[in-house]
Amino acid sequence: MIHPEPQFDIPPSAQPASPNLADASPEFGAILERALDGREISEAEGLALFGAEGRDLDALTATADVIRHRHSGPNVSFVVTRNINFTNVCYMGCRFCGFAKHREDDGAELLSLEEVAARARQAEDRGATEVCIQGGLHPDIPGDHYRNIVRAIKAEVPDIHIHAFSPFEIWYGHKKRRMSVEAFLEDLKAQGLGTIPGTAAEILDTEVRKRLTRNKLSAEQWLSIVKAAHRVGLRSTATIMYGHVDAPRHWAAHIALLREIQKETGGFTEFVPLGFVHYDSPLYRSESDVRPGPTRDDNLRMHAVARIMLAGWIDNIQASWPKLGPQGAQQLLHAGANDMGGTLMNESITRAAGGRFGQEMTPREMARLIRAAGRIPVQRDTGYNTLTVYDTHDPADTPPLVSRTTTQSPIRFLDQFTEPAR
Ligand code: SF4
Repeated sequence: MIHPEPQFDIPPSAQPASPNLADASPEFGAILERALDGREISEAEGLALFGAEGRDLDALTATADVIRHRHSGPNVSFVVTRNINFTNVCYMGCRFCGFAKHREDDGAELLSLEEVAARARQAEDRGATEVCIQGGLHPDIPGDHYRNIVRAIKAEVPDIHIHAFSPFEIWYGHKKRRMSVEAFLEDLKAQGLGTIPGTAAEILDTEVRKRLTRNKLSAEQWLSIVKAAHRVGLRSTATIMYGHVDAPRHWAAHIALLREIQKETGGFTEFVPLGFVHYDSPLYRSESDVRPGPTRDDNLRMHAVARIMLAGWIDNIQASWPKLGPQGAQQLLHAGANDMGGTLMNESITRAAGGRFGQEMTPREMARLIRAAGRIPVQRDTGYNTLTVYDTHDPADTPPLVSRTTTQSPIRFLDQFTEPAR
């Protein structure tokens, strides 16, 4: 069954609205005009776009929507995946992190290889094409733990795509194994690793990183590991974490830097803006100048400017529903985003930081959310190959992995709309 509910003040429409550049301020309109002509937008122009307010902001999001439509038309993709966070024990002390525990803390865990493989098996049985594996930097794990995880999963479910290990984990693992980064990555790939998450990027700026992570993984190290992954044939996502001690100039520089890497390697599959979740963050609780995450307008600007600056280089812009909420993520489909990320099954990193949007969006819920924005749901694989277009039917009605009441449904907000008579 199809659920064509209206979505708040956004009319369901597969066609983007024309940007009203005449109403935008002249300098602003000129930048957007160049973007619509397919010209590359510089870092300085991107920074100017981040200043959008009022009619300029309307013109910015409408322009991003037009450029998004040129790439993906009415389709919005998602991937059926399971997050497996194999340990939450970590002593790195990143100050924004609400996920890490010490060994003796309540709730500290390190999953056995058998448990990780069993969770991957269960994920595939529930329709997942991918498992996303990340964990803390546990002091007791040996350097070959990462390869052992990959081997254990591949032995149990040979066909599943393994999207695993942040650049921070690769940095940790290669040091523990006393191997070069390339050799460490080549070995993981040989065992069956498919792609890596481009997390731990935060903001690629030394001063900001000093405050967030004490610069334990420097921007240069992140860049060097990601480039090495791309060189050995492991593609990755690209991310930014914003809305804390950062500023628009960092955002424009970060996106411009990712674009330069993409020109060099072509290894990024998508860009995923990740808003800072402040609730249980030690950084937010201890310092008065830390912002409580991005505002709604910051989210609009981030996704729209990224779409415009990355056009032709990274054409998949993801709205992260665990960070934004399903409703917020849905609104960004009209501001440049064309992908809703994963169904997740066991999201725990954002929840550990106080995120309130649950740990799973089932494929059927995902399809309903996308349709309510006037778009066509498309299940994709990790590499953005189309698996199923849900234009005339729905995904199977698989119950969530962790049972919940209807009031805990992540798309409960849609129930206020009455389905039109047929
Ligand atoms: S962000 Fe990652 S590396 Fe940093 S403390 Fe948290 S789990 Fe550890």
